[in-house]
Amino acid sequence: MTTHDVDVVVIGAGFAGLVAARELGRGGLDVLVLDARDRVGGRTWTDHRLGHQLELGGTWVHWVQPHTWAELTRYGLGIERTPAAEEAYWLGADEVRRHGTVEDLMTVIDAAQQRIVDDVRAAIPRGVEPTVGAIQQLDALSIQDRFDALDLPAEERNANEAVWVGHVNAPLDRVGLSSALRWVAATGGHWQLMHEVSSTYRVVGGMSGFAAAIAADVPGEIRLSTAVTRVEQADGVLLVGCADGTVVRARRVVSTLPVNAIGGIDWSAELPAAWRRANKEKVASQGVKVWIKVRGRVPRFVGYTSQRHPLSVLKSELVDDDSTVLVAFGPDHTALDTTDLAQVQAAVDAFRDDLEVLEVTAHDWMADPWAATTWMTHRPGQLTRDLAELQEPWGQVHFATSDNASLWGGFVDGAIESGLREARLILAEVPR
Ligand SMILES: Cc1cc2nc3c(=O)[nH]c(=O)nc-3n(C[C@H](O)[C@H](O)[C@H](O)COP(=O)(O)OP(=O)(O)OC[C@H]3O[C@@H](n4cnc5c(N)ncnc54)[C@H](O)[C@@H]3O)c2cc1C
Repeated sequence: MTTHDVDVVVIGAGFAGLVAARELGRGGLDVLVLDARDRVGGRTWTDHRLGHQLELGGTWVHWVQPHTWAELTRYGLGIERTPAAEEAYWLGADEVRRHGTVEDLMTVIDAAQQRIVDDVRAAIPRGVEPTVGAIQQLDALSIQDRFDALDLPAEERNANEAVWVGHVNAPLDRVGLSSALRWVAATGGHWQLMHEVSSTYRVVGGMSGFAAAIAADVPGEIRLSTAVTRVEQADGVLLVGCADGTVVRARRVVSTLPVNAIGGIDWSAELPAAWRRANKEKVASQGVKVWIKVRGRVPRFVGYTSQRHPLSVLKSELVDDDSTVLVAFGPDHTALDTTDLAQVQAAVDAFRDDLEVLEVTAHDWMADPWAATTWMTHRPGQLTRDLAELQEPWGQVHFATSDNASLWGGFVDGAIESGLREARLILAEVPR
């Protein structure tokens, strides 16, 4: 008598789930992927809006991200550069708007960007081991603590802090210094390279095309619009209950739910302590990514206000004949109503007063119950306290998510790493 319907149920068809399912299926196990959404890709989503294919979630990739790059090579996908900015806007002392070349802006931010990660080699000697090194002592600090210790003049402080809001998507007193250190450690200690990684090259055909390429390679069913509501571990078999009433019996489950969303399933027993703790606290990131169409062909620019503004980062991405599409990031999704054109116009005016906002679009990932997160950044202390435990299997349940990756945690690369890791563990223990 068979005690199971499939060998493995993978919950989630984002990058972690798709890669795990492909590896498990290719390794000879029956695999079923269940996702609550009506599409694959999870926190990446290329959608046609404002007349363009826009990335509403994860976008930028780089060849120093080994897991991402291996997948792009495998599927023959190319990258294209977001065109470089010709002009820069930032705030001077007393918040007076400044305008200059990108080189001018670099002279404002260069020294402090280096100083906040000066000790990266001692903090995290190997990017692949983000909890080993002086990080153990430093993890109590926030990025804000580092900036406060530098005691920068207002102009440098505003721009530098805004740059980091762009990276970590939250007010800086909420985010562990670990996020700055681990990603710069992943680029061999070079902050300029880390900046390039997180904002320069996008995948030709979009992230949804990338996810679709992996999905097409999964030797098993991917069932969409199927929310998992309950998982029960009973007598060597897992019962996976769905919102439509279906119950699937499996030998293993891979959960790819983000830390913030893990409570969306009734696990029928107490989750491991690290998952309960981290889900209760929530991770740090909580911001917005907004696409804004403005009138006219605007010369390519980048702008930074401060972390106190609803939008801290603004840059031109796509230029049409009579309009330009900008992308912006802010630290707090509750600080800006992206459906209110006047609010968005005011947020744009803080960078420069010559742009007329025509249309706006965004996806509120924080309000999305299947994500409840943008890209994961840790609060102070969470990385060293929880990472190892979050990677541990819990009986027959495994956890693969960018949120528990070692190298590029928070990025697509981390999602792929985690999917490969958990598939390998399962293949080593489940007989075919
Ligand atoms: C605005 C934004 C910008 C970003 N920018 C970048 C970037 O430039 N570069 C980069 O590398 N990364 C970026 N990221 C991060 C990157 O997108 C994520 O780290 C990565 O996509 C996470 O993949 P994952 O598979 O771990 O999780 P997810 O993609 O979140 O996948 C989890 C899946 O589980 C499903 N799920 C959740 N609950 C249930 C349930 N109960 N039942 C069934 N299914 C469920 C969800 O629908 C989802 O599809 C960004 C993210 C956002 C939101």
